[in-house]
Amino acid sequence: HFNFCAGPAALPTVVLERAQQEMLDYQGHGLSVMEMSHRSSEYVAIAEKAEADLRSLLAVPDNYRILFTQGGATQQFAAVPYNLLGNGGTGNYFETGIWGKKAIKEARHLFGAAHVAASSVDSGNTEIPREEAIQLSEDAAFLHITTNETIGGLAFDYTPCAVRPDGVEIPLVADMSSDILSGPLDVSRYGVIYAGAQKNIGPAGLVLVIVRDDLLDRARSDMPTLFSYRELAEAGSMINTPATYSWYLAGLVFEWLRQDIGGLEAMAAINARKAAKLYATIDASKLFSNPVAERNRSRMNVPFVLADDRLDADFLREADEAGLLNLKGHRSVGGMRASLYNAVPEEAVDALVTFMNDFEQRRG
Ligand code: PLP
Repeated sequence: HFNFCAGPAALPTVVLERAQQEMLDYQGHGLSVMEMSHRSSEYVAIAEKAEADLRSLLAVPDNYRILFTQGGATQQFAAVPYNLLGNGGTGNYFETGIWGKKAIKEARHLFGAAHVAASSVDSGNTEIPREEAIQLSEDAAFLHITTNETIGGLAFDYTPCAVRPDGVEIPLVADMSSDILSGPLDVSRYGVIYAGAQKNIGPAGLVLVIVRDDLLDRARSDMPTLFSYRELAEAGSMINTPATYSWYLAGLVFEWLRQDIGGLEAMAAINARKAAKLYATIDASKLFSNPVAERNRSRMNVPFVLADDRLDADFLREADEAGLLNLKGHRSVGGMRASLYNAVPEEAVDALVTFMNDFEQRRG
C-alpha cells in the first residue's frame, strides 16, 4: 500500500521498523523511550542528537535557536504575534489559502488587527502574488507567509523581502508545515520558521520552531509561558515535559534524511522527479486537471479534479482497491489530492500514474 495522506502522513518504513525494534527496550537500557525521564542522560542524548542532525540538515546558522514544542502549527498562529508584537505594530500576512487565512484570523482574534500585505484570493488561490505586489503596512512588525498551502497545492517560488515603506527590514515568518525538509533552505532569510511535525518530520502534536536569537527580545509580557520562544530556548524546550516520543521519532527521520537519503539536495531531486511525473500525467490528460500556475505548483501536495465529478467516488474506490490510499481532496474543496511528502517513495507515484492512465482509458 501507498499512503498519499496530507497529514498525518506516511513515515519512512525504515524509521517505523527501527522504532518497532527499539520500542520495548531502547538500546539495552531496559525501557522504552516513551518511559524515559526527559531529564535522563539517555533521553537528553536523543534530544540533542535530533537537534544536531536537524541543524546540520538545514545548515541552521549559530544565531538561530531550534525549539521542539507542542500544540500543532495552529498554536503558532497565536505564538508568533505574541512573540513578535512586544514593541507594538501589526502582523502582516500573505493570504494564499486556508492556512494563511487561519493565521490571519487568529491574529485578528487576539490582537484586533492583521494586515493583508498580499493576497491570491482574486486568482482563486492559484497563483502567489509577485514580490512587487507586496504592500506592507507602515507599522508592520513581521511578514508571515505559508510557503506551501497544503490544501490548495500552492507554493512560493521565491523568498519575499520584507522591507517596510520607511526602509526598515522586518522579520519574515514562515509556516513551513507541509514543505520543510523537502529540500535545502536558506534559513538566514527568515526570522521565524515553524512547522507542525505530521508531514515531513514525525508524529502530530510536535512542532518545530527555528527562531533568530535577536527576536527573543520582542515578546509581549502577557503571553502563556509555554508560548514564549525565549523561555523555551532557555529551557532547551523543556519548560514542561516535552513530547518525548515524537521528538525521538523526529530524530530518527532526521537521521534517515542524512544517512539513507544523503541530505536535502538529494531529497529535493527525488521530490522534483516525483512531482514532475504526476503533473505531466495530469497535463497530458483530458480527464484530470490542476488549476495552479506552473511556477507555484506544490511538489508536496498535488490537488486535481476529474472533468466529470460523478466519477469521483469510483476513482477513489478503485484507487483504494489498488492500494493507493487517502487520495480524497480536503473536505473544504473536494476533488482529489495526492500528497508526495518525503516518505512517499517514487514507486508510489509510478503506481498512481499507472492507475490514473488506466482509469482514464477505461472511464475517461
Ligand atoms: N499550516 C499548514 C500549512 C498545514 O498544512 C497545517 C495542517 O495540518 C497546519 C498549519 C495546522 O497544523 P496543526 O494541525 O498541527 O495545528
